[in-house]
Amino acid sequence: MPKYDWDALDFSLHPTDKMFIAECELGGQWHHEGLVDFGPIPISPAAGALNYAQSVFEGMKAFRRHDDSVALFRPEKNAQRMIRSAEAICIPPVPESLFLNAVTSTITANEHYIPPCGKGAFYLRPIIFADGDHLGCRPAPHYRFVVYASPVGNYFKGELAPIKLFTSYDYHRAASKGTGHAKYAGNYAGSYASMLAAKAAGYQSTLYLDAQSNCYIEEAGTANIFFVSGNRLITPQLGSILEGITRESIITLAEHKLGMSIEQRNIDINEISDFDECFCTGTAAVITPVSDITTRNDTICYQNGAVGPITQTLYDMYRGIQLGDQEDSFGWIKTVITSTNSLA
Ligand SMILES: *Cc1c(COP(=O)(O)O)cnc(C)c1O
Repeated sequence: MPKYDWDALDFSLHPTDKMFIAECELGGQWHHEGLVDFGPIPISPAAGALNYAQSVFEGMKAFRRHDDSVALFRPEKNAQRMIRSAEAICIPPVPESLFLNAVTSTITANEHYIPPCGKGAFYLRPIIFADGDHLGCRPAPHYRFVVYASPVGNYFKGELAPIKLFTSYDYHRAASKGTGHAKYAGNYAGSYASMLAAKAAGYQSTLYLDAQSNCYIEEAGTANIFFVSGNRLITPQLGSILEGITRESIITLAEHKLGMSIEQRNIDINEISDFDECFCTGTAAVITPVSDITTRNDTICYQNGAVGPITQTLYDMYRGIQLGDQEDSFGWIKTVITSTNSLA
């Protein structure tokens, strides 16, 4: 039984006992699946993942709810997105049933690492990567699916602590007609240089613009972005941005519970001074208010650095559904461990 100071948890890796693995030949079926001890995986230096970044991932959280049960939030959405990500870079997709079984097994095998209700979450990281070796630039002959996990605290320090964004004009995250919509490993390290520069200048994250015109807002590092203006909720349309499951859930809540009108469209960076509130969404970031956006010309401040009322309402609804304070009217919660056999 691990001893954690649950209140001190941050968003870093705390290894757990077990991970789930499976393997597949190019053109074959996934097999040899099951739980093993968490630990290193031997890999050839010629593996496709190491040489050509043929690798995709997912990120999802299991929560301990008020009744002590453990639940996932819309896990089938992660399974379906991982199929799309894999197909985008010619990786054999993991069927939805295998994905869900792998995630559930990883949770139950590591139950002691799941934080108490409200003290963080149990982050699951499914990956599929090419471990087959070959020299030529083409899909590798062999693949591995792994699900590992870690208890985590908040991604940005402090729940609902507003962050500052720095607009990146010199680096783009994703090209149009590229791989930005996929949770593809190769999309991420390319943003480290701009992210480190933003952090060194006192910002928590980078705001990326579209690669074609360098004027439309795409997203913030590893989170989607939203703006509020009166009764309107405005967010960039799908295309080269990552199709966030939190993004889709927030759109649903705003439309069906708050009666807001939703605009998914191009948002010019010069429009941002017209908006009342700004926040980011993602499994890791949950809903993170944005207090400032610094552009080439200006710094726009929202709500004088406080949390905006719509941001707060959406956050309370979203977290309320996850933890069990609010009715799960859309069927988003999948119970993995029921409260009766929970050891908490
Ligand atoms: C994962 C991710 C998100 C958020 O997606 P969720 O499904 O809400 O966790 C947003 N942007 C990028 C680039 C991501 O990788």
